[in-house]
Amino acid sequence: MKELIKALYNDNLTKEDLLFLLSLEKKEDIEQLRQRAYEVMKQNVGEFVYLRGLIEFSNLCINDCYYCGIRKSNSKVRRYTLEEDEVLECVEFAVKNGYGSIVLQSGERKDSRFIDYVCSLIEKIKSKTRSQQLPNGVGITLCVGEQSYNTYKRFFEAGAHRYLLRIETSNPELFAKIHPPEVSFERRKECLYYLKDIGFQVGTGVMIGLPGQTIEDLTNDIVFFKEIDADMIGMGPYIVHRETPFAIYEKYFQENKYNLYLLSLKMIAVTRLFLKDVNIASTTALQALYPFGREEGLRFGANVIMPLMTPSNYRKEYLLYEGKPCIDEFSDDCGECLIARIENINRPIGYNNWGDSIHFKRKSQPKKD
Ligand code: SAH
Repeated sequence: MKELIKALYNDNLTKEDLLFLLSLEKKEDIEQLRQRAYEVMKQNVGEFVYLRGLIEFSNLCINDCYYCGIRKSNSKVRRYTLEEDEVLECVEFAVKNGYGSIVLQSGERKDSRFIDYVCSLIEKIKSKTRSQQLPNGVGITLCVGEQSYNTYKRFFEAGAHRYLLRIETSNPELFAKIHPPEVSFERRKECLYYLKDIGFQVGTGVMIGLPGQTIEDLTNDIVFFKEIDADMIGMGPYIVHRETPFAIYEKYFQENKYNLYLLSLKMIAVTRLFLKDVNIASTTALQALYPFGREEGLRFGANVIMPLMTPSNYRKEYLLYEGKPCIDEFSDDCGECLIARIENINRPIGYNNWGDSIHFKRKSQPKKD
């Protein structure tokens, strides 16, 4: 007990502390961890929840990651790319409902047609969403995988200002086991540094519960987040998809769902304790494990939610994993439902606000002596 209190209130958590906290199993201990993470969140970033309307604008992908449902070898997926007008319609809906930001996410492509399309989308979205409430337009976060330095620069100049690129795992050997040889750990890391150099607010994260992943790996993941000085974290449980090589882990996954759920929540809480002022998303995958998973993520120290905005007729084609929630609904219902859920746990919502990472803002301010 003493050890727990000591770790929870240690301002400079060691690796041993992180490992110890991630290994907590007793319900009352996990509840103490949750309460402390909530307190640290409140002190450092406040209780507001910021919304990012998530638009999955294309499921075409050149990669063949062993875990992902939209990998290029999955021929059962009907491939799509939204028309510009369809994306703009989603954006309009997001803005009308007070979401200060959107996320444009897709499978990975590096051809110039794709890159030009993304740049032009960003520019159009920006010019169409400037208003009194959002003088600089809606905030745009991109999540379109590994690109060249120049491409990232073009995206930034077009008006995107945040970028999500998960490292997936900070263990290079495990990374190599879950990706085909063309996808390299070093390259992924390099991309994160490119993004930082260009001036993006950079988000990264991992999948929790990957086959062969240990608690030590997850501890190192949290240390990695600090080392690369991430501004935002998005992580969630790894969920098996039948049409992937990792379908062989289905039984293991089904038998360990509850532990995986708890581990994901502990990861959020411990990351909050260690990184303090970053934005942390409570991701959809949590809700795939437990109907109130996303609310729980917020209660464990997350402060960002990404309501799904993808037009409903495309949603079932963007299945990264099975059991993804909200795929049968209309985006209206989806937004309303999420907002009711957030209000239910008494969290204020940061409407019409970019909700930028406080960590990033602090870094960018000149230091006072
Ligand atoms: N092409 C983009 C977007 C990928 S999808 C990119 O590379 O960044 C976004 C995230 O979904 C991935 O980074 C991965 O962490 C997650 N994901 C993919 N398959 C998953 C699965 N089976 N279970 C849980 N998360 C998964």
